[in-house]
Order: sequence, then C-alpha cells, then structure tokens
Amino acid sequence: MLSSIFDMLSVASSGPACTECLVVDSCGIDTSGLSKRLLQQQCSIQQCSFDQTSELLEQTDIDLIFLHTCFTDTNALSELHYLRQQHPNIPVILFDHQLNVERIDELMLWRASDYISTDSLTDEVLQRVLRYNLKIRQYHSEVERLNQLDPLTGMINRQQFYKEFSERLKPLRKGESTQHFALISIDLDGFRRFNNINGYSAGDIVVKEMSKRLSELAPGLICRQGNDEFILLLEAPADADLSHRTTQLCIQLLHRLTDPYHYHEMEIILPCSIGAALAPPHSCEPDILINQATQARVKAKETSSCSYVIFDNKNSLSNDSHVAIEPELINAIRRNEFELFYQPRVDILSGKIIGAEGLIRWRHPEKGLIFPDLFIPTAERTGLIVPIGYWVIQQAGEDIQRLKASGLEIKSLSINLSFRQFQDSYLCRTIQRLIEKHAIDTSVLEFELTESALFNNELHVRQGIEELHKLGINFSLDDFGTGYSSFSLLQKLPISSLKIDRSFVSGVHSNPDDREIVKALIHLALSLKKEIIAEGVETVQQLSFLASLGCHQAQGYLYSKPVTFTEFKELLEHGYQLTTESAVNL
Ligand code: C2E
Ligand code: CA
Ligand code: CA
Repeated sequence: MLSSIFDMLSVASSGPACTECLVVDSCGIDTSGLSKRLLQQQCSIQQCSFDQTSELLEQTDIDLIFLHTCFTDTNALSELHYLRQQHPNIPVILFDHQLNVERIDELMLWRASDYISTDSLTDEVLQRVLRYNLKIRQYHSEVERLNQLDPLTGMINRQQFYKEFSERLKPLRKGESTQHFALISIDLDGFRRFNNINGYSAGDIVVKEMSKRLSELAPGLICRQGNDEFILLLEAPADADLSHRTTQLCIQLLHRLTDPYHYHEMEIILPCSIGAALAPPHSCEPDILINQATQARVKAKETSSCSYVIFDNKNSLSNDSHVAIEPELINAIRRNEFELFYQPRVDILSGKIIGAEGLIRWRHPEKGLIFPDLFIPTAERTGLIVPIGYWVIQQAGEDIQRLKASGLEIKSLSINLSFRQFQDSYLCRTIQRLIEKHAIDTSVLEFELTESALFNNELHVRQGIEELHKLGINFSLDDFGTGYSSFSLLQKLPISSLKIDRSFVSGVHSNPDDREIVKALIHLALSLKKEIIAEGVETVQQLSFLASLGCHQAQGYLYSKPVTFTEFKELLEHGYQLTTESAVNL
C-alpha cells in the first residue's frame, strides 16, 4: 500500500489549478516542513518511498517530483536516472536539509531539474522553483507531443507505438487482462526497387497512401516502423477467436494494399507481405512479439509474394527469460548486489599476469550468481546500463587503489563500456568526476569497446573517446574481427590494443578458416602497431599457435576463469606464471 499521509489535506487543497507533487523519501526523514509549504502554495501532495514511485506514477498524474537525496552517490544516481528515464517530462527537484555547492553541482550533473535546501527554504524561493519547473514541464510536454509523431504519415512514431503497446500488454503480463492482441507487421514487396526507379518523393506518396489504407482498415494502434514497414495492433476480447480475427484482417489488408497506387499518370501495383504474432499464446512481451511478427513477415516474403504468415512457436527460438529481470535490476543497484570479477590478462612471453578484465556479476539474493549475458541486454535496452556502468567504473577504480595499496603492480585493468553508455551526454563529465572523487589511476584504467559501439555513431563516439583519452584512459577494441572495422579510423583513434574474439580463438585447431582469420588479425594488429590480446584461450595448443604468430597477451580459462577480487589478488601475490614452454610440459 502506498503511504499517502497527506491524503486528507491534499483532497482539501486540490483544485483545478493545483500542482500535483510527489515527495519521495526512502530514509524516513521529517518532510512535513516541505509538505506544509507545498500545501500553502496550492499543491497537492503524495508521499512515498522510492520503491513505490513506479506504482504511484502509474496511477497518478504527477507534475513535479521532490526527491530526497539520502543515499550514496550511486544510489542517488540510479534513482535519479530511473525517474528521468521513465518519466522524462516530470521535473525532479532534489531536496535535503542542507545541500553544499559541491553536492549541488554533482546532482545537477546527474540530471536533476532543480534543488532546494529545506533548512533555508522561503516561500519566495519555493514559488520560484514551482513556477520554473512547471514551465519546464509544459515545455517538455509540448516537445514530447511533437516528438511522438512520424512527420511523413502523421501517425504516432515507432517509439510512441512501443510505449503504448507495452502499456496495453501490461495487464496481460500480470494475468489480469480481458483483452488479447495480435501484432501485425506489414511491408511492400519491391518498394526499394520502386523507390530507385521513381525517386523518393514517389515512394513518399505510396507510403502516405498505404498509411491511409491501413488506418481505415485497422483504426487501432498503428505506426510506421521505417521505410514502407508498418506495424499495427489488433485487440480482441479474451473469449474471441483471436487467430481467426487475425487471419481475416490479414486477408483484408492483402486485398486493400494491392489495390493500385496512383503516381502522376501511372497506376502501380505493389504486392505486400504480412506477418503476425499473437499475445497470447506467442508472448506477452512487446520486443518479442515485434520480433516474432517480423520473422513471420520475412517468412511470408520468402514463401510467396502477397501472402501472410502467423508466427509459429515451433519454428523459432524465443526467449522470454530476460524480461522479468528489468524491475529487479533497479533494486540491484540500490542494494549493491553487483560484483566485479576479474579475469587475468597474461603476457604470453613471460607468462606473468599483467592485467585483468573486470566482468560484472549480479549476486541475486534468491537466484544466486547471474552472468552478464542474462541482464546486460536488458540493462542496455532500458538505459540502466548507464548507472550500472558508473558503478563498474567506480568499483574498478577502488580495486586499482586496493591493489596499489598492497604493493601489487598491474599494467591495465579494463572494463567493458557498452555502446549505450555513449548515448549518455553526461558520460565524459561524470567519468571525470568519478575519477577525481575516487582518485582513480587512469593510466591503469582501460575501456573495452566493441566495433558496433565504435562505428555506430562515429563522430560522437570519437569525440567521447578523445576526451576520455585526455584524462589518461586507454582503450581497447573488444571482439575484434566480428564487426566492420574501419582501419583508417582505428589508426586515428587512441586505441592501444585489439582483442581477438574468442569465437576465432576457439576454432584455431578445428577450423582452417579460423586459423587464417587469427593469422590475418594478428598480422594486421602488428602492422597497425597495436597490442594484441587473444580472448578465450582454453588450450596449450591454442596458446602455442598464438605465441608463434607474435600475439602479445592471452586471456582465457587456460590461465583462469573470472574470479573475485580477493582471488585475483591472491593470483597476483603468488606470482602466477605460465609460459608456452612450461605449458607444453603440463
Ligand atoms: P566479453 O567482453 O567478450 O567478455 C569475455 C567473456 O568471455 C566473459 O564472459 C568471460 O567469462 C568469457 N571467457 C573468458 N575466457 C573464456 C574461455 O577461455 N572460454 C570461454 N568459453 N569463455 C571465456 P562473461 O563474464 O559472461 O561476460 C559476457 C559479456 O558480458 C562480456 O563479453 C561483455 O560483453 C559483457 N559484460 C561483462 N561485464 C560487463 C560490464 O561491466 N559492462 C558491460 N557493458 N558489459 C559487460
Ligand atoms: Ca570485454
Ligand atoms: Ca570479448
């Protein structure tokens, strides 16, 4: 139950122009002073702890959030980040008894909209804060409204569709729904060719006409996914025959969309392909349903032009398992359930540990140790990778210091940086603050980036890398060989090492192609004058092969699995050493 201790008062003071405020505090401090003042300013108040915000924000239309900053930095960051991410239109005003300048700077950097120190709060200041933040809220709402539309068709855009679609699926996920759904994916066959021949403005006319026809036939939730690709949602009562209704709609759509399109004097007929997925039985998760409907559409296209296919679970791998993790991830940050494990990086010639890669683990109170592949994709999708990523940097920084304090030297300690973290415009500034605050030795710190992260948004990422490099941080290219590296960019960027993906390393003795790829990758890295590291080295044969090619470092189960910090420290203390010669004699 949500605690709304000011319910009575809020009812009394709520009028048409009343500002709905949510006061969030998880530390049990006395917030009555602030609440009283807000009531005097014609505000209506709800109060809850952070854990209850999602539920409350779902149920109530809140104008402003007042968040008490009682936690440690990482907690404050994750709470703020979560609120800004989930409710970007609602200003978050931080409050505490007293806020010093340094703390204010830090919190504003973490995207707070405003702040108040309750000890020195006056009515005038509070009025200014309310007025200013309500204006921001209005402005955001207007921008959001415009941002929700697809400029070509005037329909809601993909992001908005996803949001509304997820909302509608929610009761079904909780097992409470009386409605079932079919997600239908549609595109034209040969549209690209049509565009190439007739030009983009002709293509736009077709897409607009297509959107009109679709809206007439299926007036529910619908959007353009991209180019000529649309998705729409069919809703039906739980007791209706959803499969039958979907089939009927698909047939109608096929007929209507294959009517001729008119462009200048021409009549053009463009066939189309349709795929559908049903909720239930296929899935109740938006991402999975979109994926299934797309798979079905692709299958329709492969089968025959102008056809539809309803997704069939038997023919596909679907994975619902990651989905339940999302709400728990937020708490995991707050409860400090993450751990950074380390896997040694070994200098092949000397056999000595010269560094390590930090790999995150989630120590779940009930489920035990959870590996990153199970939660990082969800964290990336939801943006939670941003605060998680900061936690990793902070932890690695602390561990670098602890090693130094014990007199243990390493050349590098690397952590993985996800492409999603570069979309955070505060990345460089926040990292800089973390470095200063925790006195992180940046000459040891290294960030591993994948090719997709590097080349996704080249200019932006490049600027970020260069800025971070100025702070002394080194970079390596992870999973080297799996993407599309631009060699000229590789040379321009301050990337000191390349890590050959373990899929190639594991195949060097069974697959001649992998042998050739590894040879070529090492050759290339050496000619680019980069340090080269082989990942996933499991056998002595693999190690000898890599050594013979001049590979510098190796990392893999042959030396050690990722271990806890304490175990890693012990490995360093015992001067662990394995050379190719001693390895051969194992
Ligand atoms: P990655 O960066 O390619 O990390 C190497 C993965 O290979 C690790 O899996 C490691 O345990 C595994 N590995 C190492 N040596 C061997 C070997 O000899 N044989 C085999 N079969 N596997 C080996 P892990 O720890 O499960 O991490 C999986 C992925 O999760 C990582 O792949 C990385 O992409 C991501 N990840 C891990 N920690 C973080 C993090 O802190 N932040 C971000 N953004 N991603 C992370
Ligand atoms: Ca890595
Ligand atoms: Ca890797």
